[in-house]
Amino acid sequence: MKIAIAGSGALGSRFGYMLHQAGNDVILIDKWKEHINNVRTKGLIVEDGEDKHVVQIPIYYPNEVRDQVDIVFMFTKSMGLGEMLEDIQPILGPHTSVISLLNGIGHEDVLKNYLPLENIFMGVTILTSGLAGPGHVAFSGAGLTEIQNFVHGEEQEKIARNIVQVMNEAGINTNYSTDVKFSIWRKACVNGAMNATCALLDCNLAEFEATAQAETVIRHIVREFVKVAKEKDTLLDEDEMVQYILESARKVGSHHPSMHQDLMQNHRPTEVDFLNGAVARMSEGFGFDAPYNRLITQLIHAKEEILSVH
Ligand code: NAD
Repeated sequence: MKIAIAGSGALGSRFGYMLHQAGNDVILIDKWKEHINNVRTKGLIVEDGEDKHVVQIPIYYPNEVRDQVDIVFMFTKSMGLGEMLEDIQPILGPHTSVISLLNGIGHEDVLKNYLPLENIFMGVTILTSGLAGPGHVAFSGAGLTEIQNFVHGEEQEKIARNIVQVMNEAGINTNYSTDVKFSIWRKACVNGAMNATCALLDCNLAEFEATAQAETVIRHIVREFVKVAKEKDTLLDEDEMVQYILESARKVGSHHPSMHQDLMQNHRPTEVDFLNGAVARMSEGFGFDAPYNRLITQLIHAKEEILSVH
């Protein structure tokens, strides 16, 4: 399979490496100069637990790619999705399947502007990965990935199931989902309750969970997610979500969520507009307000300004 990884940072490099090792014809795409230079000159360094590998995978700037591919995995951050899709148009043929595994909600609205709906595949992944530096990826947690065709139909399901097989053959534990929208909303709700709050409070998951305020704050955020998800025909249960989030925070403990890493540790822009911001925005479209998620979005953007993030 000819596969492009559009955004070859932490998670893109992990998927790219695994698909490449399984014998696929993989190219990485990115715009990060130091990363591209390092991968080109020294190879991609991959740390998988105790094991360290160096692998040569072709890497390109978006404006350098020309040949159509079978599958594209989108692994920019949410904010870079549209720009990347615009720039990689030459590699998107009439039968190229494009898979979004980005965290957050509303990505289909961006994808729709650049692709026929039949070529869109939505997903969610629990797999995690981090960058030790440009050209150097460190695998972290294991976990399930789910994929489903955006347009319902026998042919689209067949394509999605083929993609699932390609991923499993590469050791990426993947299921064909019959309701990926639910999984996407559920994960977004968890991230929406914990990511921005931990970033704003400058704490890890367990520290926030242990406060007397945590359950009330989480419930207010979750309630608005549940209300908007319902308008989008996705049923989340408020009590179940709150308990799941609190239990997960206790279990995962000292982990700082990605928004804390992006904003507080690396002073990088956050994906808040595709989490709490999306709920605030969508609620307006449905004629009600989501004040908690709106305030959280505004506070994160204020912190981005204070830290001169751009
Ligand atoms: P990352 O910042 O490490 O990688 C994103 C890469 O995309 C960067 O190298 C960046 O240079 C590149 N990029 C962004 N916009 C671009 C553009 N317009 N043109 C070219 N290159 C562009 O991010 P990540 O951690 O790999 O996360 C990617 C997505 O996966 C996010 O939505 C994230 O929430 C989600 N996710 C990440 C993890 C994880 O463990 N890292 C786990 C689950 C989901």
